[in-house]
Amino acid sequence: MKQKQIRCPYCGSIAILRDASYVYGNKAKDGKLYVCSHFPQCNSYVGVHPGTTNAKGKLANKELRQKRIQAHRVFDQIWLNHIFTKSEAYRWIADKFCLTAKEAHIGEFSTYMCDQLILESMKILENNHIPLRAIG
Ligand SMILES: [Zn+2]
Repeated sequence: MKQKQIRCPYCGSIAILRDASYVYGNKAKDGKLYVCSHFPQCNSYVGVHPGTTNAKGKLANKELRQKRIQAHRVFDQIWLNHIFTKSEAYRWIADKFCLTAKEAHIGEFSTYMCDQLILESMKILENNHIPLRAIG
């Protein structure tokens, strides 16, 4: 099977498709991950879409993974509070940042884009009087 070679954006090593347990140990989740071949020295990986070998985005290090969790926590409040539906909220990301529907996912975002999304999401939440202290 022909497979696109994926490289780690941090150290340039080849990423290897492995079971999630390789990274998560006995807390193993199902599924597969592309893991940097220098893991754990290079703590960088990305999930795949269930049932495929297609990476969900670029490999992410610890800092970026935490930033994406933070971005999700703020952005998700928009549709959890019914300001937009979930699909409207993703369309809003696409419109706001001039992205295609495929690109408008936090899993594709860099640290910079996560910060931009957090800022823009906070504006929407403030305008709709959603208390920001609820967001960890
Ligand atoms: Zn690496």
